[in-house]
Amino acid sequence: MVNKIQAIRGMHDILPDQSSLWHYAENLIREVMAAYGYDEIRLPIVEKTELFKRSIGEVTDIVEKEMYTFDDRNGDSLTLRPEGTAGCLRAALEHGLLHNQIHRLWYYGPMFRHERPQKGRYRQFYQLGIEAYGMAGPDIDAELIMLTYRLWQKLGITAKVQLEINSLGTIDERTVYRAALVDYFSQHLDKLDEDSLRRLNTNPLRILDTKNPEMRSVVAQAPELMDYLGDDSKAHFNGFTSFLDSLDIPYVLNTRLVRGLDYYSKTVFEWVTDELGAQGTICAGGRYDSLIEQLGGKANYAVGFAMGMERLLALLETLPQPPVLPSLDAYMIRVGDKAEAVGMRFAEQLRNELPLIRMQVNCGGGSFKSQFKKADKSGAAFALIFGDEEAERGVVAIKSLRSDDEQKSLSLIEAVNYLQTAFKDANDVKRVLHELN
Ligand code: ATP
Ligand code: MG
Repeated sequence: MVNKIQAIRGMHDILPDQSSLWHYAENLIREVMAAYGYDEIRLPIVEKTELFKRSIGEVTDIVEKEMYTFDDRNGDSLTLRPEGTAGCLRAALEHGLLHNQIHRLWYYGPMFRHERPQKGRYRQFYQLGIEAYGMAGPDIDAELIMLTYRLWQKLGITAKVQLEINSLGTIDERTVYRAALVDYFSQHLDKLDEDSLRRLNTNPLRILDTKNPEMRSVVAQAPELMDYLGDDSKAHFNGFTSFLDSLDIPYVLNTRLVRGLDYYSKTVFEWVTDELGAQGTICAGGRYDSLIEQLGGKANYAVGFAMGMERLLALLETLPQPPVLPSLDAYMIRVGDKAEAVGMRFAEQLRNELPLIRMQVNCGGGSFKSQFKKADKSGAAFALIFGDEEAERGVVAIKSLRSDDEQKSLSLIEAVNYLQTAFKDANDVKRVLHELN
């Protein structure tokens, strides 16, 4: 027997029974993006390796060990995007979107990182990314928080997530702080683990981000970046928190929040949950003004975040009633030669009259009994039945599969009206469900 080829470790299929939860979240995301006037940008999945090295930073986890990098047939080094910020800014610079303009952008799609696969950590995973260009003030930073907060409300998970914020100051402020931090940790070398010893020389701020519980106390007593901020950074941070206060968004100041990527300055934030174990960060971002010049653009402003979709969906699955909508309204059963042709034509007319109907026509034959079983299993609200008698009389038998309503024989026009009313009610139910969340 030929052996079967399996998917790559850490890269997952999203099967049909899971896709309705994805659609549910994606639809709400689109609604929220529209509500705040954000435009979608679609970007390539592959970029030049240099782009990520220059933007993310050589001494980050991503560039050091997580990238899928390969030479294409011309010998150019290319990389599957590990995140979207770099590619989005590359596109914005390439197409002049930063020339005296303001942009609010979002993108959605798979990212690739060669990590050790575990719950909430995959090698291909989906991100929603937001990038806002050309705005200096803390108001846009706060808008990003509002927008995510609104999404949590719509999804019904507000109680399950907490906002953590911090300021990373400017590069200059960080340089001074970094020296103080290296000085401090150098006095406590015996308490650092192997990773942290390595980071002491390459990226000491990342030590603060350690997940090693044995290092908790040495990290807790380290100098705090907040004490090294200049007036401008302080004012920006205070402005940001004032907006959050006036909008009634709860947050915690986490002075250890440094983010894994090099390009952030001033505002950084994470939405975290304690319901998903170690992989608790759902959404993370911040301001990264300096990256624009780093990628060859003129000084400008940029702030954004990325949201991990698998972690978001895992959180939705912890809800008492995960919001899954039925995928079919009607299932058509056809038994007999004439019924097969008449039914198929009738189905097309129904789709003309009711453009939103989601209907499957039984294909491949089978007895009435076996087709009816399939109709029931399909999750549809109604079975539309054509036998020889119906085909002869030009009617369809409609049977509710989810209530005790009696079966009815209806003409095409009657059937359209009947289903229209039934679906209108069903849509109301859906809308209510939606608003409850
Ligand atoms: P972590 O500390 O969990 O490794 P990160 O700092 O590397 O996260 P970001 O680069 O900020 O993550 O990505 C933003 C979001 O994307 C994360 O908060 C998370 O929700 C999601 N994410 C990142 N890496 C993965 C992954 N390997 N699998 C699934 N989701 C991921
Ligand atoms: Mg990571």
